[in-house]
Amino acid sequence: QRINIALDGPAGAGKSTVAKRMADKLGYIYIDTGAMYRALTWKALQVQVDVHDEQQLVALLNNCEIRLEPGENGQKVYVDDEDVTNPIREREVTNQVSFVASHEAVRLEMLRLQRELAKERGVVMDGRDIGTHVLPTAEIKIFLSASIQERAERRFLELQQKGEQITLAELEEEIKKRDEIDSQRKTAPLRKAEDAVEIDSTGLSIEQVVQQIVTLVQQ
Ligand code: C5P
Repeated sequence: QRINIALDGPAGAGKSTVAKRMADKLGYIYIDTGAMYRALTWKALQVQVDVHDEQQLVALLNNCEIRLEPGENGQKVYVDDEDVTNPIREREVTNQVSFVASHEAVRLEMLRLQRELAKERGVVMDGRDIGTHVLPTAEIKIFLSASIQERAERRFLELQQKGEQITLAELEEEIKKRDEIDSQRKTAPLRKAEDAVEIDSTGLSIEQVVQQIVTLVQQ
């Protein structure tokens, strides 16, 4: 019996790494909903659509195809036929994406796309509103958190490997800002679903977090 797993939490809590491992373990499909908002943000920046212009963003979303495809080295993200897997992780996209994701009409369309992707069941979906809005009937709901210091440090190490110039303090500020916009928006803000299990990953390894979720799935 295939189930759906919803994994939510603030930026940098390790959701995508944990979700990928869980999906591999269970033979499920991993769906990174943040990548979908990032892809739309990337497109908006490319064609100079204002990230505060709801109508134009929706028009843009309706006129392009955002696809997530499983690949050898993880999930690939496409906008129409362009591979945007790497560009959507760039800092400019990261710092604008929460504005794009704050519009109700944009979220409504994303919700439709995301539910469509999950209809066969057997998905591990990560995001901010999966347990509360996208898949409210998911059998397992996890809210993954971690201290701001730890989240900033994890991201810092990742970015250093990519050779990006940013200080730990700047990164901490950017993460806080994004969490603030994500939790204060009117439509589907970042929240723990009432029936979600909260896992604080501060001081835990990825494997330890995965193990806790595996235990929940087996219950
Ligand atoms: O998960 P990730 O950090 O890639 O998400 C990027 C941004 O996309 C978040 O900061 C948030 O603004 C938005 N997002 C969202 N709802 C989701 C997933 C992501 O609003 N379900």
